[in-house]
Amino acid sequence: MAEILVLVDHADGAVRKTTTELLTIARRLGEPSAVFIGSGYDAARDTLAQFGAAKVYVAENPELVDHLVAPQAEVLAQVAATAQPAAILLASNPDGKEIAARLAIKLESGLITDAVDVVAADAGITTTQSVFAGGYTVTARVTHGTPIVTVKPNAATPEPAQSTPVEEKVAVSISDTAKRARIVERAARGESGRPELTEAAIVVSGGRGTGGDFGPVEALADALGAAVGASRAAVDSGWYPHAHQVGQTGKTVSPQLYVAAGISGAIQHRAGMQTSKTVVVVNKDAEAPIFSMADFGVVGDLHTVLPQATEEITKR
Ligand code: FAD
Repeated sequence: MAEILVLVDHADGAVRKTTTELLTIARRLGEPSAVFIGSGYDAARDTLAQFGAAKVYVAENPELVDHLVAPQAEVLAQVAATAQPAAILLASNPDGKEIAARLAIKLESGLITDAVDVVAADAGITTTQSVFAGGYTVTARVTHGTPIVTVKPNAATPEPAQSTPVEEKVAVSISDTAKRARIVERAARGESGRPELTEAAIVVSGGRGTGGDFGPVEALADALGAAVGASRAAVDSGWYPHAHQVGQTGKTVSPQLYVAAGISGAIQHRAGMQTSKTVVVVNKDAEAPIFSMADFGVVGDLHTVLPQATEEITKR
Protein backbone atom coordinates (compact mmCIF):
# COMPACT_ATOMS: atom_id res chain seq x y z
CA MET A 1 0.00 0.00 0.00
CA ALA A 2 1.25 3.51 -0.80
CA GLU A 3 3.02 5.24 2.07
CA ILE A 4 1.64 8.66 3.06
CA LEU A 5 3.89 10.84 5.22
CA VAL A 6 2.28 13.07 7.85
CA LEU A 7 4.41 15.70 9.58
CA VAL A 8 3.50 15.67 13.28
CA ASP A 9 2.47 19.11 14.55
CA HIS A 10 3.29 19.19 18.26
CA ALA A 11 4.57 21.23 21.19
CA ASP A 12 7.17 19.23 23.13
CA GLY A 13 5.40 16.01 22.21
CA ALA A 14 1.84 17.26 22.84
CA VAL A 15 0.29 16.32 19.49
CA ARG A 16 -2.09 18.92 18.08
CA LYS A 17 -5.55 17.90 16.85
CA THR A 18 -4.58 18.80 13.27
CA THR A 19 -2.21 15.81 13.22
CA THR A 20 -4.98 13.40 14.23
CA GLU A 21 -7.04 14.85 11.36
CA LEU A 22 -4.14 14.37 8.92
CA LEU A 23 -3.65 10.76 10.05
CA THR A 24 -7.37 10.13 9.51
CA ILE A 25 -7.13 11.51 5.96
CA ALA A 26 -3.86 9.62 5.31
CA ARG A 27 -5.52 6.32 6.23
CA ARG A 28 -8.03 6.87 3.41
CA LEU A 29 -5.18 7.44 0.94
CA GLY A 30 -2.79 4.64 1.88
CA GLU A 31 -0.57 3.61 4.79
CA PRO A 32 0.12 6.55 7.10
CA SER A 33 3.62 7.17 8.43
CA ALA A 34 4.09 9.94 10.96
CA VAL A 35 7.27 12.00 10.92
CA PHE A 36 8.12 13.28 14.41
CA ILE A 37 10.71 16.05 14.46
CA GLY A 38 11.89 17.84 17.61
CA SER A 39 11.83 16.65 21.20
CA GLY A 40 9.33 14.90 23.48
CA TYR A 41 8.50 11.85 21.34
CA ASP A 42 7.58 9.77 24.41
CA ALA A 43 4.60 12.07 25.01
CA ALA A 44 3.46 11.76 21.38
CA ARG A 45 3.80 7.99 20.92
CA ASP A 46 0.36 6.94 22.23
CA THR A 47 -1.59 9.52 20.23
CA LEU A 48 0.12 8.55 16.98
CA ALA A 49 -0.67 4.87 17.64
CA GLN A 50 -4.24 5.71 18.61
CA PHE A 51 -4.83 7.39 15.24
CA GLY A 52 -3.42 4.59 13.13
CA ALA A 53 0.17 5.51 12.23
CA ALA A 54 1.67 2.34 10.73
CA LYS A 55 5.18 3.72 11.11
CA VAL A 56 6.81 6.65 12.90
CA TYR A 57 10.04 8.24 11.75
CA VAL A 58 11.55 9.75 14.89
CA ALA A 59 14.03 12.60 14.50
CA GLU A 60 14.84 13.80 18.01
CA ASN A 61 17.61 16.32 18.45
CA PRO A 62 17.78 19.43 20.67
CA GLU A 63 19.14 21.42 17.74
CA LEU A 64 15.83 20.95 15.92
CA VAL A 65 14.09 22.81 18.72
CA ASP A 66 16.58 25.70 18.84
CA HIS A 67 16.12 26.73 15.24
CA LEU A 68 13.20 27.89 13.09
CA VAL A 69 11.56 25.61 10.53
CA ALA A 70 14.46 25.22 8.03
CA PRO A 71 15.97 22.15 9.79
CA GLN A 72 12.55 20.46 9.87
CA ALA A 73 12.26 20.85 6.09
CA GLU A 74 15.71 19.26 5.71
CA VAL A 75 14.81 16.28 7.91
CA LEU A 76 11.47 15.77 6.16
CA ALA A 77 13.20 15.89 2.76
CA GLN A 78 15.70 13.32 4.04
CA VAL A 79 12.88 10.97 5.14
CA ALA A 80 10.97 11.51 1.88
CA ALA A 81 14.06 10.71 -0.21
CA THR A 82 14.28 7.29 1.47
CA ALA A 83 10.58 6.50 1.88
CA GLN A 84 9.49 7.68 -1.60
CA PRO A 85 5.94 8.32 -0.30
CA ALA A 86 2.87 8.72 -2.49
CA ALA A 87 2.07 12.04 -0.77
CA ILE A 88 3.18 14.25 2.12
CA LEU A 89 0.57 15.97 4.31
CA LEU A 90 1.22 18.91 6.63
CA ALA A 91 -1.00 21.18 8.71
CA SER A 92 -2.06 24.43 7.04
CA ASN A 93 -0.59 26.75 9.65
CA PRO A 94 2.30 29.22 9.27
CA ASP A 95 5.00 26.67 10.19
CA GLY A 96 3.41 23.87 8.14
CA LYS A 97 3.15 26.07 5.06
CA GLU A 98 6.73 27.31 5.32
CA ILE A 99 8.07 23.77 5.76
CA ALA A 100 5.92 22.61 2.82
CA ALA A 101 7.27 25.37 0.57
CA ARG A 102 10.90 24.60 1.46
CA LEU A 103 10.24 20.88 1.01
CA ALA A 104 8.67 21.41 -2.42
CA ILE A 105 11.84 23.16 -3.59
CA LYS A 106 14.09 20.45 -2.17
CA LEU A 107 12.06 17.61 -3.72
CA GLU A 108 11.28 19.59 -6.90
CA SER A 109 7.63 18.68 -6.34
CA GLY A 110 4.31 20.39 -6.72
CA LEU A 111 2.63 21.89 -3.66
CA ILE A 112 -1.04 22.53 -2.86
CA THR A 113 -1.91 24.65 0.16
CA ASP A 114 -5.08 25.07 2.23
CA ALA A 115 -6.84 21.90 1.05
CA VAL A 116 -10.16 21.21 2.75
CA ASP A 117 -10.28 17.64 1.48
CA VAL A 118 -7.85 15.11 0.00
CA VAL A 119 -9.06 11.95 -1.74
CA ALA A 120 -7.48 9.04 -3.56
CA ALA A 121 -7.85 9.16 -7.34
CA ASP A 122 -6.67 7.12 -10.33
CA ALA A 123 -3.82 9.52 -10.97
CA GLY A 124 -2.72 9.68 -7.31
CA ILE A 125 -4.58 12.09 -5.09
CA THR A 126 -6.83 15.07 -5.70
CA THR A 127 -7.50 17.92 -3.34
CA THR A 128 -10.36 20.35 -2.80
CA GLN A 129 -9.76 24.00 -1.99
CA SER A 130 -12.27 26.69 -1.19
CA VAL A 131 -11.38 29.99 -2.89
CA PHE A 132 -12.74 33.55 -3.26
CA ALA A 133 -14.19 33.59 0.24
CA GLY A 134 -15.84 30.22 -0.22
CA GLY A 135 -17.52 31.34 -3.47
CA TYR A 136 -15.81 28.64 -5.56
CA THR A 137 -14.46 25.16 -4.98
CA VAL A 138 -11.33 24.09 -6.84
CA THR A 139 -10.31 20.48 -7.43
CA ALA A 140 -6.58 20.12 -8.04
CA ARG A 141 -3.81 17.57 -8.23
CA VAL A 142 -0.05 17.73 -8.29
CA THR A 143 1.34 16.66 -11.65
CA HIS A 144 5.05 16.81 -10.86
CA GLY A 145 6.98 14.91 -8.20
CA THR A 146 5.62 13.86 -4.82
CA PRO A 147 2.36 15.65 -3.99
CA ILE A 148 2.88 17.91 -0.96
CA VAL A 149 -0.38 19.15 0.54
CA THR A 150 -1.13 21.42 3.48
CA VAL A 151 -4.58 20.70 4.91
CA LYS A 152 -6.71 23.22 6.79
CA PRO A 153 -7.63 22.49 10.42
CA ASN A 154 -10.99 20.74 10.88
CA ALA A 155 -10.96 19.37 7.30
CA ALA A 156 -11.69 15.93 8.76
CA THR A 157 -13.14 14.57 11.97
CA PRO A 158 -10.37 12.63 13.74
CA GLU A 159 -11.25 8.92 13.82
CA PRO A 160 -9.23 6.73 16.18
CA ALA A 161 -7.84 3.44 14.78
CA GLN A 162 -5.40 1.76 17.16
CA SER A 163 -2.13 0.60 15.61
CA THR A 164 1.29 -0.59 16.75
CA PRO A 165 3.62 1.63 14.77
CA VAL A 166 7.07 0.54 13.71
CA GLU A 167 9.51 3.17 14.99
CA GLU A 168 12.48 4.17 12.89
CA LYS A 169 15.08 6.55 14.30
CA VAL A 170 16.27 9.15 11.83
CA ALA A 171 19.90 10.28 12.09
CA VAL A 172 19.65 14.07 12.00
CA SER A 173 22.20 16.08 10.09
CA ILE A 174 21.37 19.75 9.79
CA SER A 175 23.22 21.98 7.35
CA ASP A 176 24.86 25.21 8.49
CA THR A 177 22.50 27.10 6.17
CA ALA A 178 19.45 25.76 8.02
CA LYS A 179 21.00 26.81 11.33
CA ARG A 180 21.41 30.46 10.34
CA ALA A 181 18.35 31.56 12.35
CA ARG A 182 18.27 30.59 16.02
CA ILE A 183 15.40 31.04 18.51
CA VAL A 184 16.73 33.22 21.34
CA GLU A 185 13.58 33.55 23.43
CA ARG A 186 10.04 32.19 23.59
CA ALA A 187 7.39 34.47 25.08
CA ALA A 188 4.08 32.86 26.03
CA ARG A 189 1.00 34.71 24.85
CA GLY A 190 -1.38 35.80 27.59
CA GLU A 191 -2.83 32.52 28.82
CA SER A 192 -6.63 32.69 28.83
CA GLY A 193 -7.12 29.02 29.64
CA ARG A 194 -9.49 28.81 26.67
CA PRO A 195 -9.10 26.26 23.88
CA GLU A 196 -7.19 27.11 20.70
CA LEU A 197 -9.56 28.81 18.24
CA THR A 198 -9.06 26.47 15.28
CA GLU A 199 -9.33 23.35 17.44
CA ALA A 200 -12.25 24.34 19.68
CA ALA A 201 -15.51 22.38 19.61
CA ILE A 202 -17.40 25.58 20.47
CA VAL A 203 -16.58 29.14 19.35
CA VAL A 204 -18.31 32.30 20.57
CA SER A 205 -17.54 35.28 18.32
CA GLY A 206 -18.22 38.97 18.73
CA GLY A 207 -18.44 41.68 16.09
CA ARG A 208 -18.99 45.41 15.78
CA GLY A 209 -22.23 44.93 17.71
CA THR A 210 -20.22 44.43 20.91
CA GLY A 211 -19.35 48.11 20.77
CA GLY A 212 -15.89 47.10 22.01
CA ASP A 213 -17.11 45.29 25.14
CA PHE A 214 -16.15 41.63 24.71
CA GLY A 215 -17.05 40.88 28.37
CA PRO A 216 -20.39 39.17 27.57
CA VAL A 217 -18.75 37.19 24.70
CA GLU A 218 -15.91 35.98 26.94
CA ALA A 219 -18.27 35.14 29.81
CA LEU A 220 -20.46 32.98 27.55
CA ALA A 221 -17.34 31.37 26.05
CA ASP A 222 -16.09 30.46 29.53
CA ALA A 223 -19.46 29.05 30.56
CA LEU A 224 -19.40 26.82 27.45
CA GLY A 225 -15.67 25.96 27.55
CA ALA A 226 -15.38 27.71 24.19
CA ALA A 227 -12.79 29.72 22.29
CA VAL A 228 -13.42 33.40 21.50
CA GLY A 229 -13.55 34.62 17.91
CA ALA A 230 -13.98 38.08 16.43
CA SER A 231 -15.04 39.69 13.17
CA ARG A 232 -12.60 41.83 11.27
CA ALA A 233 -14.57 44.94 12.19
CA ALA A 234 -13.92 44.17 15.86
CA VAL A 235 -10.25 43.39 15.23
CA ASP A 236 -9.68 46.48 13.06
CA SER A 237 -11.23 48.60 15.81
CA GLY A 238 -8.56 47.28 18.18
CA TRP A 239 -11.14 45.54 20.39
CA TYR A 240 -9.74 42.03 20.05
CA PRO A 241 -6.38 40.60 18.84
CA HIS A 242 -6.00 39.58 15.20
CA ALA A 243 -5.11 36.03 16.30
CA HIS A 244 -8.83 35.64 17.07
CA GLN A 245 -10.16 36.90 13.73
CA VAL A 246 -12.45 34.46 11.92
CA GLY A 247 -12.80 34.76 8.17
CA GLN A 248 -11.11 35.10 4.83
CA THR A 249 -8.16 37.04 6.23
CA GLY A 250 -8.36 35.36 9.63
CA LYS A 251 -8.73 31.78 10.78
CA THR A 252 -11.02 29.03 9.53
CA VAL A 253 -13.04 27.31 12.21
CA SER A 254 -15.35 24.34 11.94
CA PRO A 255 -16.72 23.77 15.43
CA GLN A 256 -19.74 21.79 16.54
CA LEU A 257 -21.30 25.06 17.70
CA TYR A 258 -20.59 28.62 16.47
CA VAL A 259 -22.22 31.57 18.22
CA ALA A 260 -22.14 34.83 16.22
CA ALA A 261 -23.00 37.83 18.39
CA GLY A 262 -23.28 41.29 16.84
CA ILE A 263 -21.91 40.06 13.50
CA SER A 264 -23.74 40.92 10.26
CA GLY A 265 -22.53 37.91 8.22
CA ALA A 266 -20.39 39.42 5.46
CA ILE A 267 -19.17 36.86 2.91
CA GLN A 268 -15.58 37.29 4.16
CA HIS A 269 -16.65 36.34 7.70
CA ARG A 270 -18.70 33.37 6.49
CA ALA A 271 -15.66 32.08 4.64
CA GLY A 272 -14.09 31.30 8.01
CA MET A 273 -17.07 29.66 9.74
CA GLN A 274 -19.49 28.33 7.12
CA THR A 275 -18.60 24.70 7.83
CA SER A 276 -19.64 25.01 11.50
CA LYS A 277 -22.09 22.24 12.39
CA THR A 278 -24.62 24.39 14.31
CA VAL A 279 -24.81 28.19 14.09
CA VAL A 280 -26.50 30.36 16.72
CA VAL A 281 -26.98 34.05 15.92
CA VAL A 282 -27.63 36.94 18.28
CA ASN A 283 -28.30 40.18 16.43
CA LYS A 284 -30.60 43.10 17.09
CA ASP A 285 -31.39 43.45 13.37
CA ALA A 286 -33.81 40.72 12.21
CA GLU A 287 -32.73 41.44 8.61
CA ALA A 288 -29.02 40.78 9.25
CA PRO A 289 -27.71 38.39 6.51
CA ILE A 290 -26.15 36.06 9.10
CA PHE A 291 -29.65 34.86 10.05
CA SER A 292 -29.83 33.06 6.69
CA MET A 293 -27.29 30.53 7.94
CA ALA A 294 -28.55 30.30 11.53
CA ASP A 295 -29.86 27.07 13.00
CA PHE A 296 -31.08 29.10 15.97
CA GLY A 297 -31.42 32.86 16.14
CA VAL A 298 -32.27 35.47 18.74
CA VAL A 299 -33.26 38.98 17.66
CA GLY A 300 -32.05 41.14 20.51
CA ASP A 301 -29.26 43.12 22.09
CA LEU A 302 -26.27 40.88 22.78
CA HIS A 303 -25.56 42.78 26.00
CA THR A 304 -28.87 41.46 27.32
CA VAL A 305 -29.11 38.08 25.57
CA LEU A 306 -25.58 36.76 26.20
CA PRO A 307 -25.57 37.38 29.99
CA GLN A 308 -28.97 35.65 30.24
CA ALA A 309 -27.64 32.66 28.32
CA THR A 310 -24.49 32.60 30.45
CA GLU A 311 -26.54 32.67 33.65
CA GLU A 312 -28.77 29.81 32.51
CA ILE A 313 -25.80 27.67 31.42
CA THR A 314 -23.87 28.36 34.64
CA LYS A 315 -26.89 27.27 36.73
CA ARG A 316 -26.90 23.80 35.14
P1 FAD B 1 -20.98 44.92 10.82
O1 FAD B 1 -21.11 44.47 9.44
O2 FAD B 1 -20.96 46.39 11.10
O3 FAD B 1 -22.20 44.25 11.62
C1 FAD B 1 -22.47 44.49 12.96
C2 FAD B 1 -23.75 43.73 13.30
O4 FAD B 1 -23.98 43.87 14.68
C3 FAD B 1 -24.97 44.26 12.59
O5 FAD B 1 -25.64 43.18 11.96
C4 FAD B 1 -25.83 44.86 13.69
O6 FAD B 1 -27.21 44.67 13.48
C5 FAD B 1 -25.37 44.06 14.88
N1 FAD B 1 -25.49 44.76 16.17
C6 FAD B 1 -25.15 46.03 16.46
N2 FAD B 1 -25.32 46.27 17.78
C7 FAD B 1 -25.79 45.13 18.32
C8 FAD B 1 -26.14 44.73 19.64
N3 FAD B 1 -26.04 45.59 20.67
N4 FAD B 1 -26.57 43.47 19.85
C9 FAD B 1 -26.68 42.58 18.80
N5 FAD B 1 -26.36 42.91 17.53
C10 FAD B 1 -25.91 44.15 17.30
N6 FAD B 1 -14.47 40.19 8.02
C11 FAD B 1 -14.31 39.20 8.90
O7 FAD B 1 -15.09 39.07 9.87
N7 FAD B 1 -13.26 38.33 8.76
C12 FAD B 1 -12.38 38.40 7.75
O8 FAD B 1 -11.44 37.60 7.70
C13 FAD B 1 -12.54 39.44 6.78
N8 FAD B 1 -11.70 39.54 5.74
C14 FAD B 1 -11.93 40.49 4.78
C15 FAD B 1 -11.13 40.55 3.64
C16 FAD B 1 -11.38 41.49 2.68
C17 FAD B 1 -10.51 41.50 1.46
C18 FAD B 1 -12.42 42.41 2.84
C19 FAD B 1 -12.70 43.44 1.78
C20 FAD B 1 -13.21 42.41 3.96
C21 FAD B 1 -12.98 41.43 4.96
N9 FAD B 1 -13.76 41.37 6.11
C22 FAD B 1 -13.61 40.34 6.97
C23 FAD B 1 -14.71 42.44 6.46
C24 FAD B 1 -16.17 42.13 6.14
O9 FAD B 1 -16.46 42.53 4.81
C25 FAD B 1 -17.09 42.90 7.10
O10 FAD B 1 -16.80 44.27 7.01
C26 FAD B 1 -16.97 42.47 8.57
O11 FAD B 1 -17.07 41.09 8.66
C27 FAD B 1 -18.07 43.14 9.37
O12 FAD B 1 -17.92 42.83 10.72
P2 FAD B 1 -19.18 42.85 11.66
O13 FAD B 1 -20.19 41.87 11.18
O14 FAD B 1 -18.68 42.70 13.07
O15 FAD B 1 -19.69 44.36 11.56
